[in-house]
Amino acid sequence: MLSLLKSFFTNVVDFIYPRICNHCQSAIDTSHKIFCSACLQTLSFVNKQGRCTRCLSHLEDDFSIYCEPCTLKPHYFTELAATFEYQGLAKTLCRKIQSPGGEELVEIAASFMVMQMIQLGYPIPDLVMPVPGNRKYLFFSKKSIKQLLAEKIATNLGCKYVDPLYAQSYFSQKGKNRAERMQLSGNVFAWGKRVSFCDKKILIVDDMIVSASTMHAVADRVQEGLPIQIYGISFCIG
Ligand SMILES: [Zn+2]
Ligand SMILES: [Zn+2]
Repeated sequence: MLSLLKSFFTNVVDFIYPRICNHCQSAIDTSHKIFCSACLQTLSFVNKQGRCTRCLSHLEDDFSIYCEPCTLKPHYFTELAATFEYQGLAKTLCRKIQSPGGEELVEIAASFMVMQMIQLGYPIPDLVMPVPGNRKYLFFSKKSIKQLLAEKIATNLGCKYVDPLYAQSYFSQKGKNRAERMQLSGNVFAWGKRVSFCDKKILIVDDMIVSASTMHAVADRVQEGLPIQIYGISFCIG
């Protein structure tokens, strides 16, 4: 496990060599970083304590495990986690990977996600899949960030990447409040390719979650294939 971690750190550190920190724009004296040490030290992995275990929202008391809306819905995740809060350096990285040319930064983001999964004791999945995107990506035959992250994570973990679902109609959770977001059902997604999920451990990958309702809608579909476990990991939570 340590050597795994070490190779991921090497990926992160050895990636790009600018002289200027990509977050705070201050000069960097060593040639092996994309961000300065001061900015890197501000990064901390999302701690799940005090959060709903199903949607990761902050809980109002110290005793609950789930928030109230989550107790009313079925859920299929063995565990769902996010890597960083959508703020500071993580926000900069998230924005850069979502902007044109950001594909290169996917390597770094995926490495951090793998570190978080190792910390949380996730098992190595059998199959890694992205949250399906809208068809515009298919139209331009360009991969979405979610697909790129899932592919990279699959490569890092030495397991198989699959992309069996697609969105049947355009959907967006942007600008919606939490209650509206939670209305999203698995019906928005349909099976493109049939992949056998039976008795498999599935990892679903997203770049950004807010209410985790899209993740849950995907898991609704995935559970139809009778996997033994479904895990979820997002790069940011905002
Ligand atoms: Zn900096
Ligand atoms: Zn919840």
